[in-house]
Amino acid sequence: MKMDRTHDISQMIKAEAISLGFSACGIAEAEEIDEKNASAFCKWIESGHNATMEYMANHLDKRLNPRLLHPNCKSIISLALNYYPQQLLRPDQLQFALYAYGRDYHDVMKQMMRQLAEYIMNVLPDASLKLCCDTVPILDRYWAWKAGLGWIGKNTSLIIPRAGSFFFLCEILIDKELEYDVPLSLHCGNCTRCLQACPTKALMAPYTIDARQCLSFLTIENRDSELLPALEGSNCIYGCDRCQLACPHNRFAQPTSNILFKPSEDFMNMQPSDWRKLTVEKYRSLFKGSAVKRAKYEGLMRNIRSVGGKTEKSKHEE
Ligand code: SF4
Ligand code: SF4
Repeated sequence: MKMDRTHDISQMIKAEAISLGFSACGIAEAEEIDEKNASAFCKWIESGHNATMEYMANHLDKRLNPRLLHPNCKSIISLALNYYPQQLLRPDQLQFALYAYGRDYHDVMKQMMRQLAEYIMNVLPDASLKLCCDTVPILDRYWAWKAGLGWIGKNTSLIIPRAGSFFFLCEILIDKELEYDVPLSLHCGNCTRCLQACPTKALMAPYTIDARQCLSFLTIENRDSELLPALEGSNCIYGCDRCQLACPHNRFAQPTSNILFKPSEDFMNMQPSDWRKLTVEKYRSLFKGSAVKRAKYEGLMRNIRSVGGKTEKSKHEE
């Protein structure tokens, strides 16, 4: 492709991504992960900080080199989608990670990615694409940073300037050279609010989470049926956002315009006593098409029992 055409096509892809409803789109050259980030990731795995998420250690070669994920891969199109809700659960309710309020993001993002892929194939009919939405071993935040979308904060989230960190990330790999964005050199400076806000000290050092202590892992991925001592005194029953909510950059967060992420009234009205009485039928109706199904009914009930139904309000009332 000639330089002007490469520029035009790259701009057209980005414009189409935004018109389809993505919040941001950037493009990076597909190459091996840089030395610093590759070594930090390997050290994280070697230290066991991935807890029982063995899949994080699988396909390490591909995770560190996206060219092994797709034949002749030249470029990575990184996409972000805002999920910040219009309305948050009140502090006296049991808490869910904000990303889990609405429809399962996998379904929403995949549909949008397919539409973008169709557009790209119209513009570049001989291109070969690979869509990556959580099931492919790729470091989303690294590629979002490389593609100029934002920077990785000390809480390990991708922070988009003047927009915050409540974004889903996904990628399209393509065997065409495109025009590449420049990674941002912004960073957190002296701020440590996220480290101070972490209730379990899972955020053990800047840029390092020990998943074994993290409420997100413990409440969602962890299949242990025992009660979770780390949840005692907490009100998080599915995921945790404290290290993001504490981040000053999230004061710029704007509610998502994607109606599929809008929570149901039923969900928003659930009280601690309702959660404690949750039946399988109610669970199914509340979470039809939701990512919360990942924790399964038994897992969610374990979490509810582990917090003992305590909320910030009820604790103060004791
Ligand atoms: S998600 Fe919660 S528990 Fe995990 S690192 Fe962030 S604040 Fe800590
Ligand atoms: S809270 Fe502060 S240190 Fe943590 S990610 Fe946000 S800006 Fe960075």
